[in-house]
Amino acid sequence: MVCGMEIHVELNTKTKIFCSCETKFDAAPNEQCCQVCLGMPGTLPSLNEEVVDKAIVAGLATDCKINGVSKFDRKNYFYKDLPKAYQLTQHFNPICQDGRITIESGKVIRIKQIHIEEDAGKIVNKKDKAFVDYNRSGIPLIEIVSHPDIQTPLQAKEYVEKVQMLMRYTNVSDCKMQEGSMRCDVNISVRKKGSTELGVPVEIKNINSKNFVRKTLEYEFKRQVDLLESGQKVIKQTRRYNEKKNVTEPLRLKESEGDYRYFQDPDLQIVFVDKSRISKILKTMPESFDKKLRRYVEEFHLPYQDAKNILKYKKVMNFFDESTKNVKDKRVAANLIINTIFGELKGQKEEFRVGISLEDFKNLLKKIEDQLLSKNEASKLIKKLMKI
Ligand code: ZN
Ligand code: MN
Repeated sequence: MVCGMEIHVELNTKTKIFCSCETKFDAAPNEQCCQVCLGMPGTLPSLNEEVVDKAIVAGLATDCKINGVSKFDRKNYFYKDLPKAYQLTQHFNPICQDGRITIESGKVIRIKQIHIEEDAGKIVNKKDKAFVDYNRSGIPLIEIVSHPDIQTPLQAKEYVEKVQMLMRYTNVSDCKMQEGSMRCDVNISVRKKGSTELGVPVEIKNINSKNFVRKTLEYEFKRQVDLLESGQKVIKQTRRYNEKKNVTEPLRLKESEGDYRYFQDPDLQIVFVDKSRISKILKTMPESFDKKLRRYVEEFHLPYQDAKNILKYKKVMNFFDESTKNVKDKRVAANLIINTIFGELKGQKEEFRVGISLEDFKNLLKKIEDQLLSKNEASKLIKKLMKI
C-alpha cells in the first residue's frame, strides 16, 4: 500500500481569513457572513495576520521550514457552496514545507507542505431540498500534505491521531472531526512488493473519523488488489467512504491540476515572513509535544499510555501540570485522573468539565502524600464530589 494524506484543519482564530466575520461553530445559518465571504462583486479580501501566525505554529510543530515568501492563488471551480467560483489557496508557494511527524509506532511520515486556504460554505440536505449555509465560507484552513510514506491502515490512523494531538497541543485548532474542523483525504495506490513503479492513485475524500480512515484504507487496499489480481485495472478517480456499508464508492473522475486554472490572486499581497516573526512565535510555543511526552515517561515515570492520554487533551494536561507542581509521585495524580475522573466525566474529555476544583484535588494529593488518605479513599471521595 502506498498512501499519502491531505488533512484540512480549521484554525481556531477569532475571525475569518479575509473579513472580520466571527467563526463560532453553532451560529444560526448565514448569521456569520458579509459581502466578502459571500463573494459579492467589488469586495476585496484583507488577510487576517492571526491566520499566518497559526499556520507558522503548525509548521514549527511539525518540523517544517517556514518560507519567507508565500502567495495566494485562485483555484477556479463552480459549486453552490462557493459563490466566488474560486477558492483562495496557496498552490504555488505554500507557507510551510519539508516537515516530519513521528507516529506512535516510531515511523516518520514526511510532510510535503502546509498551505493556507479558505473553507467553502456548507450544503445541508433536508428531504428533497438543499440548503446552503455560508457561515463556513472564509473560515481559515491549513492543509497538511504528507508524502506517500504511509504503508498500512494502522499507520494512517496513527498519523491522523498525531496530527490531531499536535494541532490541539499547540492551540492551532480544536480538530473536532465530528464537527468537521478536521477532515481527511487519502490518496492510495498499490504496488507489488519490491517494485518501484507506482500504481494508479485513488483519492477518498472527507473521511470524518480516525477509525473510518483505517476502515476506508482496509477496504480500498483490498479492492485495488482484487482488481489487479483478476486482471482488471484501477481507474484514477475520487471516491467516498460509505460508513453504513463499509465500502468506498465512486464520486467522480479525478480532476487534474490544469482543470482548476490556478493563478496568483491579484487582490492579495505577497505574504512575507521574516526571522524575527518566527522567533517571536517560537517563544510563545510550549516545549515540543514529543519532548514533553518523553519527560512525562522518563522523569515522572508515568506509563506511556497514561502520559499520552493526559497530553492529548489540553485541559487535562493543564489540570495535571497545575495540581502536581509540588507533588513528588506524580503517578498518583495521573492514575486518579485517568481511572477515576475520566470515568465520571460528563461530556467530552477535551472539555474536561471536572466536578472537582483544582484546589480540592491538590489537597487530596497532599493528603495521600502525607499518608493521611489511601488512594482508594481518594478515588471514592472524588467520585462522590463529581456526582454533586
Ligand atoms: Zn465575512
Ligand atoms: Mn484543500
